[in-house]
Amino acid sequence: MTKGRKELKAAAVMQKIMGSYFYELNEAATNKTKKIAWCSSVGPAEILRALGFLVYFPENHGAMLGATRLASEVIPYAVSEGYSPDICSYLTSDIGAYLKGVTPLARSYPGIEKVPRPDVLVYNTNQCRDVQDWFFWYGRRLKVPVLGIHTPRGVRELKKEVVQSVAQQMEELIPPLTEIAGRPFDIDELREVVTSSLACSKMWEEVLKTAAHKPSPLTFFDATIHMGPAVVLRGLNEAVDYYKVLLTELHERVRRKEGALEEERFRLYWEGMPIWGRLRSHAELFFSLKACVLASTYCNSWIFEDFDPQDPFYSMAKAYTGIFICRAEEEKERYLKAMWQLFSIDGVIYHDSKTCPNNANCRYGMPRRLEMETGVPALVINGDLNDLRLFSDEQFKTNVQAFIEQLEEKKENTYGALDESRTNAENERQKITP
Ligand code: SF4
Repeated sequence: MTKGRKELKAAAVMQKIMGSYFYELNEAATNKTKKIAWCSSVGPAEILRALGFLVYFPENHGAMLGATRLASEVIPYAVSEGYSPDICSYLTSDIGAYLKGVTPLARSYPGIEKVPRPDVLVYNTNQCRDVQDWFFWYGRRLKVPVLGIHTPRGVRELKKEVVQSVAQQMEELIPPLTEIAGRPFDIDELREVVTSSLACSKMWEEVLKTAAHKPSPLTFFDATIHMGPAVVLRGLNEAVDYYKVLLTELHERVRRKEGALEEERFRLYWEGMPIWGRLRSHAELFFSLKACVLASTYCNSWIFEDFDPQDPFYSMAKAYTGIFICRAEEEKERYLKAMWQLFSIDGVIYHDSKTCPNNANCRYGMPRRLEMETGVPALVINGDLNDLRLFSDEQFKTNVQAFIEQLEEKKENTYGALDESRTNAENERQKITP
C-alpha cells in the first residue's frame, strides 16, 4: 500500500477479470480457437467484437511496459530498427519488447510467454499517426493484414459530413473483416456490443465524477489503474459489472466522507499522459503534500457518450471523432475550463510528454492563456509516458513542491472567494465528455 493512500478493495476483482481477459487471448492464440484482432485504444473495437474477434490493445501493453519500467530497457531495440527515440515511446517500447522477446504479461500472468499473435490489425488515426506506423510494422513482420480508419484531426465543429466520412470508413471495414473472421456480419450483434460499450462508458464516467466530491474518494493514480476494463473490455458485460462493484465502493466512501487521502488540502488536475514508471512515487509525493490529483483528461478519454445502438456506425464515428485529442485548441480549452469548475480544481499540472506531442497541450501557450482566464495556476513538467531517460525525479519533486507552496499562498489570500465559487460549481451537473 502506498503511504497515506487507501487502496480500493475492488482492485482484487479487477485483477481477476483482467487476468481472465489475457488468459483467454493466450488460449485463443495458442490453440487457434478464436480469431484475434489488435486494435488501437480508441479504434473500432465494437465492430471487431461483433464479428467474434477477441480484441487486444497494444497501447495497453505499452503502458504495462512503462509501469513495469521495462520500457527504457527495450526501446533501444526499436531504435536499432530505425525507429527514432523521439517518436511515441509506447510504439518503441512495444516493438522493442517484441524484438527482445519479453513481455510484462509473463510476470503478471504465469503461463503466458508472449503477446497473442493477431489475425488482423485495425487502427484509427483519431489519436495520432504513430498507431498506423506501429501496426504496419507488425503487419509486415507477421504478414498479417492491416486495416485503418483515417480521421481528420484538430476538429473544431463536429460537422455531419466529417462524421459521415468516418462512419463510411467503418462500414467499409466490414467486408475484409468478415472474410478474416470467417463469419457473417450481423447488425444486431453490433447493436448489442454498442449497447454494452455505452453502458461501460456511462459507468466509467460515474466513477470519475465521484472525484467531484470533497474529499475526493478517488485519485488520478487510482483511475489510471482502474480504467483497464474501460479500455480493453468495453463492449463486454464484464466491464459494466466491474464498474458496478467499483462504484459501490466509491459511493460508500462518499457517504462516509472518506477521501482517498488522509487529508486533502489541494485539488489538482493532471493534463497529459501519466508517467507510467513513476505512478507510485508520484502518488506518494502528492499524498505527502496533501495534494489530491483527482481528475485528468487522460482518464476521461474512454467516455463515449455518443454511442447509439440504433445508429451504430454513425454514432461510433461521432464518439471516436469527438474525443479530446482529436479536437481543435478552442474546444480543448472549453473542455478543460468545464473540468476545472466541475472538480473544483486548485491547480493544474501539464505533462509535456516528450514522445507524445498529441497528448501534450502545453506547447502552444495554452497554460498561460487558461491561467490568465481562469486564475487557476499551472505547472508544466517535462517527462515522458514511458522513456524514463527523459525524466528527472529531482526536478519533478522540486517543481511540484514549489507549486504546492504557491498554491498554499494563494489559498491563504483568497480562501473566502474560492470557497463560494466552488460551492456553486458543485451544484452543477456537468458532463465530463468533450
Ligand atoms: S497518442 Fe501518443 S502515446 Fe498514444 S499511441 Fe499516439 S503517440 Fe503514442
